[in-house]
Amino acid sequence: MCQMTMNNDIERVLYSVEDIKEAAHRVGTQLATDYADKTPIILSVLKGAILWTVDVMKEMDSYAEVEFIDVSSYHGGVASAGEIMLRTDLNTDVNGRDIIIMEDIVDTGRTLKFMIDLLMERGAKSVKVASLLDKKEGRVVEANVDYIGFDVPKAFVVGYGLDYKELYRNLPYVGVLKPEIYTSEDTATLNSQD
Ligand code: 5GP
Ligand code: MG
Ligand code: MG
Repeated sequence: MCQMTMNNDIERVLYSVEDIKEAAHRVGTQLATDYADKTPIILSVLKGAILWTVDVMKEMDSYAEVEFIDVSSYHGGVASAGEIMLRTDLNTDVNGRDIIIMEDIVDTGRTLKFMIDLLMERGAKSVKVASLLDKKEGRVVEANVDYIGFDVPKAFVVGYGLDYKELYRNLPYVGVLKPEIYTSEDTATLNSQD
């Protein structure tokens, strides 16, 4: 990290600033249409979904509330250990409400399933999911994404909210890190971070 530019750590850009802007517009306008006669709760999953949430909600010319939840997977060095933990709960009653979960990426589907089960248990009227990225090949449990930014291949990506060791979230695009950035690391842990 002697040279202080994150861009140098990126091997390849997968989704550019322009690509993401188009996806946010497409998903946001679709949500505004689909929820025109409702007032949903946009539930943003910390921290990865913050940029996606902001960009999509700005494209929605319809009434909506915004809440945050922090959910993460336990990981003891093994990829996607499976156990999910509720770190910070949302601050509102979801009983009878329409919920739109905003996710950065759905991989195994475990995090998403945990949240959907939780919200349904609490009496949510409906739960839909809008994810920037859908890594369908990684699915271990059934978890459907209703609004998809991009279908992403099974690779570890960073940027636009997605981190590697809490870094790269502020890159304005989504890309793949150069292998040397984590060659000294146990790559098995890469899949299980929130
Ligand atoms: P799950 O496996 O439960 O569907 O996804 C759990 C979390 O793993 C995601 O919300 C995301 O934070 C993280 N994750 C999965 N794939 C990637 C990836 O390619 N890059 C990054 N940075 N995080 C990922
Ligand atoms: Mg996430
Ligand atoms: Mg992470």
